[in-house]
Amino acid sequence: MPAFDTVLTKGRIVDGCGNPWFRGDLAVQGGRIVQIAPPGTLGGRETIDVADRFVAPGFIDVHTHSDLSILVNRRAESAVRQGATTHILGNCGMSPAPVAESRLDEMRHYWGRISDQPEVTWAWRTFDQYLQTLQEGGLAINVGSLAGHGALRMAAMGLDDRASTPSELEAMVALLAEAMEAGAFGLSTGLVYPPGCFARTGEIIALCQVVSRYHGLYASHVRGERETILEAVAEAIYIGREAGVPVQISHNAPKFGAPCDATANLRLVDEARAQGQDVTVDNDLHTDLGPPLTGGLPQHIQERPVAEIAALLRDPATRCQIQEEIVLDRQPAFGPTGLLKHGQWHRITVLHAPRNPDTVGKTVEAIAREWNQSPFDVYFDLIIQNGHDAEAIFDYIDEVNIRILLQHPAVMVCSDGQVLAPYGFLNDPPPYSPCSYGEFPGLLERYVRDDPVLTLEEAVRKMTSFPAQRFRLMDRGVLRPGAWADVVVFDLERVRDRATNLYPHTFPLENYPHRYPEGIDYVFVNGVLVVEEERHTGALPGQVLKRHAGATSIGSLPTPSKDTGE
Ligand SMILES: [Zn+2]
Repeated sequence: MPAFDTVLTKGRIVDGCGNPWFRGDLAVQGGRIVQIAPPGTLGGRETIDVADRFVAPGFIDVHTHSDLSILVNRRAESAVRQGATTHILGNCGMSPAPVAESRLDEMRHYWGRISDQPEVTWAWRTFDQYLQTLQEGGLAINVGSLAGHGALRMAAMGLDDRASTPSELEAMVALLAEAMEAGAFGLSTGLVYPPGCFARTGEIIALCQVVSRYHGLYASHVRGERETILEAVAEAIYIGREAGVPVQISHNAPKFGAPCDATANLRLVDEARAQGQDVTVDNDLHTDLGPPLTGGLPQHIQERPVAEIAALLRDPATRCQIQEEIVLDRQPAFGPTGLLKHGQWHRITVLHAPRNPDTVGKTVEAIAREWNQSPFDVYFDLIIQNGHDAEAIFDYIDEVNIRILLQHPAVMVCSDGQVLAPYGFLNDPPPYSPCSYGEFPGLLERYVRDDPVLTLEEAVRKMTSFPAQRFRLMDRGVLRPGAWADVVVFDLERVRDRATNLYPHTFPLENYPHRYPEGIDYVFVNGVLVVEEERHTGALPGQVLKRHAGATSIGSLPTPSKDTGE
């Protein structure tokens, strides 16, 4: 008689810790891994022969923006199809909670069109209520969340471009404590985005002191990833030291305009670690980003109504001033803006412009020649015509930096993407977000198999036990009896990312609209099969994960229902 719920038999087991693979059987019972034994020795009610395929812990994606999209698509399609079994939300300073009643409209506007989807009820106000909303409707994957500094700031003082007053800071401290009590993993900042970019360092230290009381983590999209990258990384490390919190530097590849390659920012991380400070880094593998063109405007303009933005750009004097502000970049703007600052118009390729369909697939440089205008004028006119619907691919990262980061032991792999699906609202129109569909398969395909930068085992470590350890998910990210059975089975020979497009682009793009990857054959979340032979089973076994202060016990092991026969 079979003893276990499920047995994966005769696979090559990659345990998540970086150890060389070995052949074995893995048994799942009651949501957990209960036994790992020699190949062909275990049986289950369901036994899946995965001979020669790799069996690894499910991928843990510590830097995502699935906060609202996972409410729209609880099947977590683009995530789970690529083997991700856990997403950490609330990154880059923004989480959808807490929300102040008086700021609800601002918050909805900040999140854009998705705010109007029926699944995004905005019925929550506190962080705890938001986590409940996530859990109640069921999720295909596990999620945990950071509290976004921008959300705290918006609740306390809106989008004001100024330092906080003592009473406003006090309000933020109270909201953050409430979020930490509810299970937030720590605080995130986005110091190039409104409203985070308006905050002084002292404000963040004060908030991180709250995080410290709860043994949480400080994750930062630092204050500029180009010209100011070294000062910005130093600021994040300083904040961690002053407040006594571990620091996670988010997606820390230098963007176009940086004075150095990634070895320089990693040296700061190494120095901090050598002095006993706990600092780590995450990074994704894509050299491009597909934001709206409005994202390149100065921060104090971005959140204004579209008609107002257009009016500003129509006025010749203001247009001139905005252009100057972009070039000066005094308050460092997000990465892609470096292409505007440095006139890299051949690296900006229009992807959507409903009012100017003939520009799609062309670079701003090419359109400027065609229209006989300056590239800046083209850029601004596309915004005037199309508002936030004008989107482009910004090729703003040198791939060399991705390789440097991948090889550093303190760098883990994240997607910086979000739950998407090639149907419904999340595909209308299809966003350009290759990382959302192809991050982990792309790592296996390009950087492990085809042009190796990492061993398979090291790549898996960076997607599993390392991120799990970072967020104190000590019972996930490894294949060991007692751990939750988040498991992915893949065929390294067949793995193929069908979402990534390399620069320079030829249109139509080969991998856009994005498709699910190939070769990710089975994905289990908490012991339940969610992806079976590349098909979604519809199961929603995911859990909302909460920060555990201090040590985490793996709990009592469930016992097999029958003798194993060994
Ligand atoms: Zn970010």
